[in-house]
Amino acid sequence: MYQNMIWKRKKDKNIEFRCSECGQIHQDWPALTYSSPSHYNSLTEDEKKAFASIDTDFCEIWYSEQTDRFIRVVLIQRVIDNCMSLEYGLWVSLSENSFNDYKANFNNQNQETKYFGWLSNYLPDYDDTTKIPTTVITKPGNQRPEIIPHEDFEHDFVRDYYHGITTKEAEKRINKMLDNIKPKQ
Ligand SMILES: [Zn+2]
Repeated sequence: MYQNMIWKRKKDKNIEFRCSECGQIHQDWPALTYSSPSHYNSLTEDEKKAFASIDTDFCEIWYSEQTDRFIRVVLIQRVIDNCMSLEYGLWVSLSENSFNDYKANFNNQNQETKYFGWLSNYLPDYDDTTKIPTTVITKPGNQRPEIIPHEDFEHDFVRDYYHGITTKEAEKRINKMLDNIKPKQ
């Protein structure tokens, strides 16, 4: 389940920062990041070579009967008793039209639009999270799009997203990730 997770520090080296909410110095949390959609991760190495492609932001799998198209996105999980949020790096599948539109505008600094996407990663400690409907919101300035799960979809992950999780739960998730993977050199 954690095989395709990578551990990544934020680009700037300052992992400590003064918080604009409370004025205290905080240690930044690492993002919980998946390097591929679960559908890609479950292919064998031969299958990946034969009918799939992936880079940092796009993934396609060409099955004989259909093509699946995925893009890399961000989800911000609110933490109730903390100034910081827990960031997820995830993948969603898009329709062919949405995928092509996103790809065509990938270097457009000013593109702000919305797509429909299905969450495409298995997240630990939840029932199947790969069938959660989301709204994908593209961001100006070439930031990765943010996803918002559909609030009316009955799922513990959606409930947590809207109600927030505790600092204890956020740290549990981070520690679990750090225990299961080695830092990428
Ligand atoms: Zn703070």
